[in-house]
Amino acid sequence: MNYESFFQHRLEALKDEGNYRVFADIERRAGAFPRASFHGAEGPGEVTVWCSNDYLGMGQHPKVTTAMHEAIERCGAGAGGTRNISGTNHYHVLLEEELADLHGKEAALLFTSGYVSNWTALGTLGARIPGCITLSDELNHASMIEGIRHSRCEKHIFKHNDPADLERRLRDLDPEAPKLIAFESVYSMDGDIAPIAEFCDLAERYNAMTYLDEVHAVGLYGPRGGGVAEREGLMDRLTVIEGTLGKAFGVLGGYIAASTALCDFIRSFASGFIFTTALPPAVAAGALASIKHLKESDAERLQQRERVAEVRSRLAEIGIPTLDNPSHIVPVMVGDPVKCKWISDWLMTVHGIYVQPINYPTVPKGTERLRITPSPVHSMEDIDRLVHALSEIWSQCALARQVA
Ligand SMILES: *Cc1c(COP(=O)(O)O)cnc(C)c1O
Repeated sequence: MNYESFFQHRLEALKDEGNYRVFADIERRAGAFPRASFHGAEGPGEVTVWCSNDYLGMGQHPKVTTAMHEAIERCGAGAGGTRNISGTNHYHVLLEEELADLHGKEAALLFTSGYVSNWTALGTLGARIPGCITLSDELNHASMIEGIRHSRCEKHIFKHNDPADLERRLRDLDPEAPKLIAFESVYSMDGDIAPIAEFCDLAERYNAMTYLDEVHAVGLYGPRGGGVAEREGLMDRLTVIEGTLGKAFGVLGGYIAASTALCDFIRSFASGFIFTTALPPAVAAGALASIKHLKESDAERLQQRERVAEVRSRLAEIGIPTLDNPSHIVPVMVGDPVKCKWISDWLMTVHGIYVQPINYPTVPKGTERLRITPSPVHSMEDIDRLVHALSEIWSQCALARQVA
């Protein structure tokens, strides 16, 4: 086999479909979010980022960056080992206590990312509980799917956010078999929210565990930023709450919060926890500062909601089609991968507006979109410029408008 030509052929096929991924080379400017420097073909220029998952701008918050600087001064750069072998830093311990408290759980366990936490926790539960059956929402994140697949347990995929379909599947299973229902609260591409209470009712009726990914909700929903389950008073009904420190908390890392025994079980049996170097202490310190701040401050959440509402109503006024949903995510629907990429390139080069095109396999073919995430760091002028630019491109390309 000619390996090089194999790789090149496969990449050419992606490019022909319009699904080849191009990374925008940007430098975020601390203190000036959402501004960033863009290193394009014509040299560096300034852009406004409209697609960040640092939903509240916490990545530049003085409390967060100061905590990180201080931790580097105190502890140096890296953790120095796996958690088991010299890598457990006091910041990790404090952060796990903070996360357990955030979700009203006995314990929490840190991982190097949200991806790793899902992959590892679901993989370990599915593999290590004899006869475990996993029931997984059809739109679950790749990290959950991969974790469940890796566990090799029996699995059933239920229709997205559909308690009736979940119940049909639960009813057919052996009542004695251990079961785990895995789903997300806010789905990041459509921005819709799961019927968590109904899933908990079913879990109780059929004696199943629940595993909730709150990655796109922690920091953002609930009076202390504990997620949608906190907002709805459901945290104590969930077996495992999983989250990230890399999105609304603005740093990096993932975690689960659950009972002491469950966390200790994962800690003791999970390869993806045991055999990897712990997060740098400064990263844990930054996440700790971010969580503490967002537990007490609602200002960022309220301002984000205002910005989201403003972007939605301004786009609706001019008929730019967005997907309606109850969350902070504003998907502008394009429905064609080539057009979607073209619009994104045009926004960047002509207007200095950065919105990443979202194409297959992240979303189904035919539902390609621009995923806009308004945040407290976007000004009303930023919104004006975004709306005018989109209006211009919609006219130029004769794209369909939505009549209200
Ligand atoms: C981003 C994401 C993850 C992974 O979290 P990271 O901390 O970025 O690795 C997990 N679940 C969902 C739903 C996500 O969107």
